[in-house]
Amino acid sequence: MSYVTHLEGAIDGARLPAHTVQTLHEGRPIWVRYDLGAVGASVKRDSLRDREPTMWRYRELLPVRDDANIVSLGEGMTPLLDCPRLAARLGVARLQIKDESQLPTGSFKSRGQAAAISMAKELGITRLAIPTAGNAGGAMAAYAARAGMEAYVFMPRDTPVVNQLEAAFFGAKTFLVNGLITDCAKIIGEGRERLGWFDLSTLKEPYRIEGKKTMGLELAEQLGWSLPDAIFYPTGGGTGLIGMWKAFAELEALGWLDSADRPKMFSCQSSGCASLPPAFESGERFAAPVENAHTVASGLRVPRAIGDFMILDAVRESGGRALAVDEDRLVEWSSLGAQAEGISICPEDGACIGGLDLALQNGWVSRDDHVVIFNTGAAQKYIETMQADLPEVDHTSIDWSLIER
Ligand SMILES: *Cc1c(COP(=O)(O)O)cnc(C)c1O
Repeated sequence: MSYVTHLEGAIDGARLPAHTVQTLHEGRPIWVRYDLGAVGASVKRDSLRDREPTMWRYRELLPVRDDANIVSLGEGMTPLLDCPRLAARLGVARLQIKDESQLPTGSFKSRGQAAAISMAKELGITRLAIPTAGNAGGAMAAYAARAGMEAYVFMPRDTPVVNQLEAAFFGAKTFLVNGLITDCAKIIGEGRERLGWFDLSTLKEPYRIEGKKTMGLELAEQLGWSLPDAIFYPTGGGTGLIGMWKAFAELEALGWLDSADRPKMFSCQSSGCASLPPAFESGERFAAPVENAHTVASGLRVPRAIGDFMILDAVRESGGRALAVDEDRLVEWSSLGAQAEGISICPEDGACIGGLDLALQNGWVSRDDHVVIFNTGAAQKYIETMQADLPEVDHTSIDWSLIER
């Protein structure tokens, strides 16, 4: 059972056949299109209530034909947490964080990999490969193990150590490359021909977007089929932002949203790798690559996003903005959120909390607004950024003056 009618080149609208192995079209990503009329006739939004609390509750809006091919670790239905203390600190009426840090392998990469690897399985692919400088490698390795597939991960030497170790721990053949993510991608390109790898890079196959789309579907359902005034999303390759915007369009077409008002989408990056804000501000549809990209937020270290125009189109249609936050303040902003609310906020999300502050200062969002931030990963995966000088206590003669300070 699948309602997919066809695939579609995002750059030129070219129609491509459903259920065929696809990578890029004209060097750009591919959309998955559904027969939404048929989806609407077969399922009512209220009947979702009785389904399992995973992203597969939106089965009809996902591309897999045969349920037996679904590769799942129970991903989805992450909590949407009220954040009154952080809201008060920043000066906004209502702030919620959708906490993706609680997903399998500690980041929202699991949603995209669950969808992409399920489809790879359905299409008979058995050897997967990915270049990554962050959470995608561990997520791919875990889902490949779950599917019984072979996985190859190539990452730059300076990838956070937890990301290096988790990929190997889940059994992927994992390699450190003395180069950049683009050099890793080159190796994958060669291995595709030599070893028959299937490349699961961000946006280089059509289905990771479909998995990430479920963030938007869940948000709407959790808010009783309405949407907030603004969404802040930390943007690397942009899969999540693109996917959510697609989700809102599909929900609107299905008539499942109670109001036609869609949120302003704020794409948040670090000043160390801010590809989108210059293009946004100058009205360009494509972004120039960033030279010497550097940020502790490994998920945001994408010097050139092949879906740049898809991100910018969504941000502009929504009335939002592409913005950047000072690299030196990412960890400060994320720990502010963690300490105010007890949520494991990754450095990427520092760009969203700082970005919300910037947007409030500039009046891009109103202080009366309802804002949702996506916390895309778990802070404990970034041990390099968690610095603390812990005082020692001698348990044989406790110095209480040290403790009671
Ligand atoms: C990959 C990643 C991002 C960026 O995701 P995109 O959807 O590709 O823009 C943000 N945060 C974390 C923690 C990530 O791992």
